[in-house]
Amino acid sequence: MRQHFAVFGQPIAHSLSPYIHAEFGKQCGVELDYVAIEASPEDFASAVATFRAAGGRGANITLPHKQAAYALCKEVSEYAFHVGAVNTLMWQDDGWMGCNTDGVGLIVDLTERERLDLRGRRCLMLGAGGAARGVVPAMLEAGVAELIIVNRTAARADELVDAVGEPDRVKSRYWEDLAALGDFELIINATAAGHQTTVMDLPFSLLSPRCLAVDLSYGKAAIPFLSWAKAGNCDHAVDGLGMLVEQAAESFLRWHGVRPQTDGVYTTLRAKQDALISAD
Ligand code: NDP
Repeated sequence: MRQHFAVFGQPIAHSLSPYIHAEFGKQCGVELDYVAIEASPEDFASAVATFRAAGGRGANITLPHKQAAYALCKEVSEYAFHVGAVNTLMWQDDGWMGCNTDGVGLIVDLTERERLDLRGRRCLMLGAGGAARGVVPAMLEAGVAELIIVNRTAARADELVDAVGEPDRVKSRYWEDLAALGDFELIINATAAGHQTTVMDLPFSLLSPRCLAVDLSYGKAAIPFLSWAKAGNCDHAVDGLGMLVEQAAESFLRWHGVRPQTDGVYTTLRAKQDALISAD
């Protein structure tokens, strides 16, 4: 029987998730529909209820609804509880079960596809929104030595540091003090700045010679940060396309009990994205 899935967000028209899940479904022999549903913060809960009433089995949740999705769940995974944000809903008996696959998606991409070792690195996280919340515990589990979180709105960085509860290892600092923080071996851009016309003014002093720079966004939105990193002779610069595919595979596993192969979908999307960027 055909099963119904969706991704909710705003904006959502650009989402690659319907393509990714359709490909995974074909590969694994799972009959599914997967659609993108645009919902404003005010309409989010009722849009999810309408989707469920029409037979919806599961959904991905993206910007800006991950914390609102958490509030809709009757039960959440330990990881989602820890980060206070849900990117995957699964209908179970009489309510939504929520989990968060962003963190594992990022770590699988960096350690398995890019073959990078994160252990012992001094890290900087730019941003403290839903994506940052989703990946911080996974970075700690992957063995980073120290994590400094800097956010435009300082209070959100403080909240995230408090939620993590490892004050010796995870600290917040002010954006104005970036130039005084020394250098890092891993810098993650978890801001949405790349989607805007404003360019973040980042000092090159943040980059150590063996620095890995990761932008969680992909496509044109990742260009400003990754160009800055390359201009500062950063050792390795990675965008969020691989994370997107891996977090989708983790959602698929939770819904259907099988983890699809990701290399084919990743290679196709990478080629499409490179073609789009060079056509500009
Ligand atoms: P949120 O809206 O929850 O958070 C946005 C973050 O960006 C906040 O920290 C915000 O700071 C910061 N920010 C926005 N504009 C600027 C700016 N001009 N300068 C500095 N900081 C800024 O979004 P998400 O956390 O969900 O998403 C963040 C990024 O991660 C997006 O680009 C998204 O596409 C990407 N992402 C990628 C995924 C993947 O699978 N590859 C998965 C999830 C997200 P403030 O608190 O001050 O507003």
